[in-house]
Amino acid sequence: MKNKIIAGNWKMNNTREQTEQLITALIPLVQDTNNTVIICVPFTDLCKAVKLTKGTNIHVGAQNCHWKESGAFTGEIAPSMLTEIGVEYVVIGHSERRTYFGETDATVLARTKAALNAGLKPIVCIGETLDERNGGRMEEVLRRQVLEGFKDISVQELEHIIVAYEPVWAIGTGVTATDEQADEAIRFVRGVFAEKYGKAAADALYIQYGGSMNDKNAEGLLNMPQIDGGLIGGASLVAEKFAAVVKAHI
Ligand code: PEP
Repeated sequence: MKNKIIAGNWKMNNTREQTEQLITALIPLVQDTNNTVIICVPFTDLCKAVKLTKGTNIHVGAQNCHWKESGAFTGEIAPSMLTEIGVEYVVIGHSERRTYFGETDATVLARTKAALNAGLKPIVCIGETLDERNGGRMEEVLRRQVLEGFKDISVQELEHIIVAYEPVWAIGTGVTATDEQADEAIRFVRGVFAEKYGKAAADALYIQYGGSMNDKNAEGLLNMPQIDGGLIGGASLVAEKFAAVVKAHI
């Protein structure tokens, strides 16, 4: 079985001072894990996070990047601006960006390509809404997000990508998918990747579950055969809770 990749998504939370407190508390709690630990922090916290985690097993990610290297794109950030300061990962296409900021499969693809070209490892988010699930369209939506959002991604590039399956109805709601629902959806997603890239590449691909995962439910989710890790929002803001998720699967 693969080691797990556990990524915290701090969203728009934590000042630089809070960043220092949280990371300082987290470092000793996760230092013995075999799992990969990533924290995806706001842009203003990146430098501090990189500095504080230097020499530890915690990796730092951003929460977005643009598809161009420079230019008139007010409010955006170029991938090389992230690598320049030591950032390794970037979240792309989070459902909050798709819902509130007009992110589409096409922009997700463009951002993912640019991130890869700069040497970042993208964590690409996909997932259905409650209406889509209840309307029997979950598989259609997930298939479209994979086929459109990974249209020009080669099998070699896929090796540097993590996918996060995050049902929108479970994000920030306290409603978690059951272990079986999450595992079943990820099995389906892996099957779509297998159609496009072959079974070996799909089996090697890391697919996380995200959606109200926390210290209480992580063990069940992370022990499911298809779930290769977690993308954690709310629970990543408390060092003890995030560390418990990191250590829920040995
Ligand atoms: C997320 O932000 O990707 C997420 C899964 O949030 P939460 O854990 O708070 O549902």
